[in-house]
Amino acid sequence: MNNSIETTCVQGGYRPKNGEPRQVPIYQSTTWKYDTSEFMGKLFDLEEAGYFYTRLQNPTNDLVAAKICELEGGSAAMLTSSGQAASFFSIFNLASCGDHIVSSSALYGGTYNLFATTMKRMGIEFSFVDPDCSDAELEAAFKPNTKAVFGESVANPALSVLDIERFAQAAHAHGVPLIIDNTFPTPVNCRPIEWGADIVIHSTTKYMDGHGAAVGGCIVDAGKFDWTKYPDKFPGFTQPDDSYHGVVYTERFGLEGAFIVKATAQLMRDLGSIQSPQNAFLLNFGLESLHLRMAKHCENGLAVARFLSEHPKVSWVRFPSLEGDKYYDQACKYLPNGSCGVVSFGVVGGREGAEAFMKKLTIAQIATHVADARTCVLHPANATHRQMTDEELAAAGITPDLIRLSCGIEGTEDLIADLAAALG
Ligand SMILES: *Cc1c(COP(=O)(O)O)cnc(C)c1O
Repeated sequence: MNNSIETTCVQGGYRPKNGEPRQVPIYQSTTWKYDTSEFMGKLFDLEEAGYFYTRLQNPTNDLVAAKICELEGGSAAMLTSSGQAASFFSIFNLASCGDHIVSSSALYGGTYNLFATTMKRMGIEFSFVDPDCSDAELEAAFKPNTKAVFGESVANPALSVLDIERFAQAAHAHGVPLIIDNTFPTPVNCRPIEWGADIVIHSTTKYMDGHGAAVGGCIVDAGKFDWTKYPDKFPGFTQPDDSYHGVVYTERFGLEGAFIVKATAQLMRDLGSIQSPQNAFLLNFGLESLHLRMAKHCENGLAVARFLSEHPKVSWVRFPSLEGDKYYDQACKYLPNGSCGVVSFGVVGGREGAEAFMKKLTIAQIATHVADARTCVLHPANATHRQMTDEELAAAGITPDLIRLSCGIEGTEDLIADLAAALG
């Protein structure tokens, strides 16, 4: 399929045949029926493709994952119960106890906790590098047991733009894949695979669903990383899996399928972080208008960023598509059509000033959420990132006065009037 992003948003993934429903059907079933137990046995051995239990796979999910796969230009994809599950699976599918990952330090707070605390307890060690570090600093972060490089294309909430090409080159020079969390720009604004990323993940909870209705995640594999070139580093792909009668994922499913089949067969089977088919259906509703909504989110974001940058009670503004922003040039390269609708800024008066300002807003609602149709606002130092020390906050690109405003798709003039009134 070489359709435009717009057409893929509307029609990708599911093409009904004669007499079939036009909308993606919800397969609300835990299990599937088969005529013989021989056939069932083949399913369990991964010799036949088919559904048997929704903890591993469900057709509704697969149709929606196929749409996101087309949008990102990948070879295979799967939905997960949340963005957190997608981040965890993307790494745990290729790294085990004793391994090491290089990650950009500009991360979503939940991802940072997952990496620095929970996965550390599993024996996977992370080195965090500044997304703007020098080539030498990036180089120095690699170890012999490094298995992947991880970063956010546009970081939440720091709004730094990752130099994906540079991180991809460094990862590939060390024989490991680059994993990109592309939640904020979505494939409408950035397609990391075209810049060298090997695996792309999403919190579909954000713009993709876009209506604040369903928590979910997605993993897309580009199918380009050659696991067989590094058999010692990635034995899980190139050596027999005893839990599936000795299947070798790269041999049976090729480079295009190995990553996602392995994640489904092992991690979904054992950890069961599947998205509910109901939520996948709601996610698909969101995807059908993603291209229209992203354009309005970006328009509102830029107008609000311009307004704030000229206001005397605003100490600083960060928005990658704002002329003069630290990441403006990088945004022009990676996000020529716009970045997202999220604007970070500080108000005069620091931490207390931020709280007082937020209380006066009426259209922008205080919520631990970003990237949905309704404008919302958050003070990360007091909410999502409150477990972090001031040094950790600084490394993640967050100051104590930072306000994260997620511009929805309401009228631009109304959003600006709300901010103007609250700033006083
Ligand atoms: C929200 C978010 C996540 C986590 O996703 P959930 O769906 O909340 O689990 C991961 N990465 C980024 C960039 C996010 O914004």
